Amino acid sequence: MGLIQRLPQDVVNRMAAGEVLARPCNAIKELVENSLDAGATEIMVNMQNGGLKLLQVSDNGKGIERDDFDLVCERFATSKLQKFEDLMHMKTYGFRGEALASLSHVSKVNIVSKREDGKCAYQANYLGEKQRKSAQDGKMLAPTKPAAGKNGTCITATDLFYNLPTRRNKMTTHGEESKMVHDTILRFAIHRPDVSFALHQNQSSDFRTKGDGNFRNVVCTLLGRDLADTVLPLSLESTRLKFKFTGNVSKPITSATSKNSQNRKTSRSFFSVFINGRSVRCDILKHPIDEVLQNRSLFCQFVALHLEIDETRIDVNVHPTKSSVIFLEKEEIIEEIREYFEKFVSDIFGFEPRGNVK
Ligand code: ADP
Ligand code: MG
Repeated sequence: MGLIQRLPQDVVNRMAAGEVLARPCNAIKELVENSLDAGATEIMVNMQNGGLKLLQVSDNGKGIERDDFDLVCERFATSKLQKFEDLMHMKTYGFRGEALASLSHVSKVNIVSKREDGKCAYQANYLGEKQRKSAQDGKMLAPTKPAAGKNGTCITATDLFYNLPTRRNKMTTHGEESKMVHDTILRFAIHRPDVSFALHQNQSSDFRTKGDGNFRNVVCTLLGRDLADTVLPLSLESTRLKFKFTGNVSKPITSATSKNSQNRKTSRSFFSVFINGRSVRCDILKHPIDEVLQNRSLFCQFVALHLEIDETRIDVNVHPTKSSVIFLEKEEIIEEIREYFEKFVSDIFGFEPRGNVK
């Protein structure tokens, strides 16, 4: 008799969910991206106990059709992608239809949503498979019910990882999870000053940005005026390599000064990379910046980078979390950025290699 057997569907679902959503901050990223895809201009995040007890994202986006509630938490069900070729031109963050399905497999999900043209809001609950023995995978527990609610969507996940005890038990320090959620929202808020972001933790407000498009004000609100005052824009464009590199950096400080000021609010270091509007963990873009700074014994408290590459030269479908990307002529692009940043630090800030000020 053969030894290979198909895994039960609930095991497959839970394993896949664990890959997309390793921690509360991954869930928040997915929910916020859905809100941005829905055209929201106001996004409010609520969390309790580092997001493990409660994670909630409400937005004023276009809302979910009542008829779509049925499919919203089903795996590989999406309104954003129709055929494989569309992947070449994705303008939305989402396209794999996995986030809400994953969330419903590792937490208890409630969705309330109202379309602008809808008579009222509707709501439904989706539970992990343990409680859903009789229901089909990814389906609602009961039909949608009318509910009170403003235009937009509010998605609440409670008891995250309740059915993955090992993972949940590992996250005993809620403070660490909260910080990662906080940093995730911070990144979005800085990247999108045109959207108002608010974060509440355990019933108290962490921060709120206005959403008036003023980048400097956002940095001021989130990281302090002292830092915001030193921030300058970066800009480099290559028609040959078809990329545009923009961003903002604070005036570098010497490494010694940065150690002395570690407890000040302004010393908090911020580093983010977005590629084609997507927040990515991109060490290859971090390296040239770090190298230029280290050669001068410098440290930058604030670095926000944005690389835009011709959409036909980039592949974002590398991993379910979509936090890694592959793009063509990577080495050449990185070298141009390194040269540009080197010149920027010398010419604009006046720092020559090995810390010699001009
Ligand atoms: P994806 O974003 O890859 O499509 P998700 O599982 O994140 O997959 O979401 C499934 C679908 O639910 C989306 O395609 C979208 O139609 C809908 N949706 C999710 N969140 C929202 C939201 N905040 N506002 C409006 N529609 C939403
Ligand atoms: Mg999504």
